[in-house]
Amino acid sequence: MGRLDGKIVVLTAAAQGIGRAAAETFAKEGATVIATDIQMEKLKELEALGVDCRKLDVTDSAMVLEFAASIPRLDILFNCAGFVFNGTILDTEEKDWDFSMDLNVKSMYRICRAFLPKMITHNSGNIINMSSVASSIKGVPNRFVYGTTKAAVIGLTKALAADFVGNHIRVNCVCPGTVDTPSLQGRIQAQPDPEQARKDFVARQKLGRLCTAQEVANLLLFLASDESEYITGQQFIIDGGWSL
Ligand code: NAD
Repeated sequence: MGRLDGKIVVLTAAAQGIGRAAAETFAKEGATVIATDIQMEKLKELEALGVDCRKLDVTDSAMVLEFAASIPRLDILFNCAGFVFNGTILDTEEKDWDFSMDLNVKSMYRICRAFLPKMITHNSGNIINMSSVASSIKGVPNRFVYGTTKAAVIGLTKALAADFVGNHIRVNCVCPGTVDTPSLQGRIQAQPDPEQARKDFVARQKLGRLCTAQEVANLLLFLASDESEYITGQQFIIDGGWSL
């Protein structure tokens, strides 16, 4: 018996990294998984696990509405899409601010607004949003707009949880530290000395290593399952002690 038997899950940004690990884990635990991303070639590798793979750009309002209309019922929504813009406020131009706010925060407004009426109709639902320790939890250098967006995700999560608790809709968010994913590898390779950059990332982890995408997926599985039935409006830190 799987921990998500009978559940229908919708995920964003599932082609790689944490979203992909979550899609694989949810499918292995018996859920019907509808996974979305903009990178279709990579996403379609999940079809081997029976995952329904669909193209969805979370910044495209019309596409989000059309996608939501094609799914009559869902139990769990995992909003994973997000982007790390590197820099202080002085490096962040208005276009960078707008892009990050749109992809990291407004996308969740769009998607939750499109799917919530279905959850309200069924008087049950479970939304999990991707935040970060770099947010209202911890000020991280060179993560000015990223940290701002991820703090907004925590606020959005709590506001939704408060408004819809009476409809038996739970809303929580996860706040990872540094997770070894393709985008992290990209950020490391973009540094002048990638080997040193990797050592620096590891050095700031109190457990002495990076988090894996599977470790975050394990937490997501708990939040997606009925084992966490009494939990709503919370932020779950998984950072190997970075924020201590
Ligand atoms: P990643 O950055 O490696 O992959 C992101 C995925 O998002 C890609 O598959 C990409 O195609 C997709 N994507 C990009 N733009 C999109 C759009 N407009 N619409 C739909 N999909 C789009 O993945 P990751 O590092 O696992 O990060 C996933 C989430 O976790 C992000 O929200 C990120 O901020 C958050 N997070 C990551 C870390 C980390 O250290 N990796 C830490 C804390 C939080």
